[in-house]
Amino acid sequence: MISFEQVSKKYHEKTALVNANFHLQRGAMAFLTGHSGAGKSTLLKLIMLMERPTSGKVIVDRQDLSQLSRAQVPAHRRKIGLVFQNHQLLMDYSVFDNVALPLKISGYNERDSGRRVRAALDKVGLLDKERLSPQTLSTGEQQRVGIARAIVNKPKLILADEPTGNLDPDLSAEIMRLFQQFNQVGVSILIASHDLELIQRLPHPVIALNQGRISGSASLMGH
Ligand code: ADP
Repeated sequence: MISFEQVSKKYHEKTALVNANFHLQRGAMAFLTGHSGAGKSTLLKLIMLMERPTSGKVIVDRQDLSQLSRAQVPAHRRKIGLVFQNHQLLMDYSVFDNVALPLKISGYNERDSGRRVRAALDKVGLLDKERLSPQTLSTGEQQRVGIARAIVNKPKLILADEPTGNLDPDLSAEIMRLFQQFNQVGVSILIASHDLELIQRLPHPVIALNQGRISGSASLMGH
């Protein structure tokens, strides 16, 4: 699903990623670890085409990203569901409208959109909260709304950047179980996290970044 071949990224003089190589198989789930500044966000941004590599090749869903024109970028991004640490929900929108936002941007009609939003809310166990403001929900529930919004487009790939950063261990485990459920139905998943305790308890491969270099990765990813 994702291949990095000798990928380096420099921001002016600052080197963020050096000759990175890894492969995430279609349908696999893996973690990306490393201290702050190790290059995790840069790696995710290269996959999203929010940044371009200084050298090397990034391939996502069999597509060499360097070959994509500007006009093809939105279609590329629609393949990917993004989950953030601070979920970035709009507090003056209802839960339903927050989850519907990506569909609105993609131009879905209201009836299809409603069906998909409810299916996504059902998957994260929040169907009964669709009319509420995210403000009235717990932190764990808010993160689940963020996940519903990430999956509402039925992405092939989920990228999560510290999705459990603000959550206690029980809630973090619950969020990981959700990711595992999506993975079981074939979605590829890459989760950047420095919660080593949580990661070690789970059976998924780990790509470890250290000062922009991949310093370790378990048998490379896949079932
Ligand atoms: P992480 O997500 O692991 O904390 P980042 O990918 O954000 O790491 O950063 C890797 C390195 O690149 C850091 O030294 C950071 O300061 C630098 N960096 C990241 N983004 C930029 C940018 N837009 N301009 C300059 N330097 C950057």
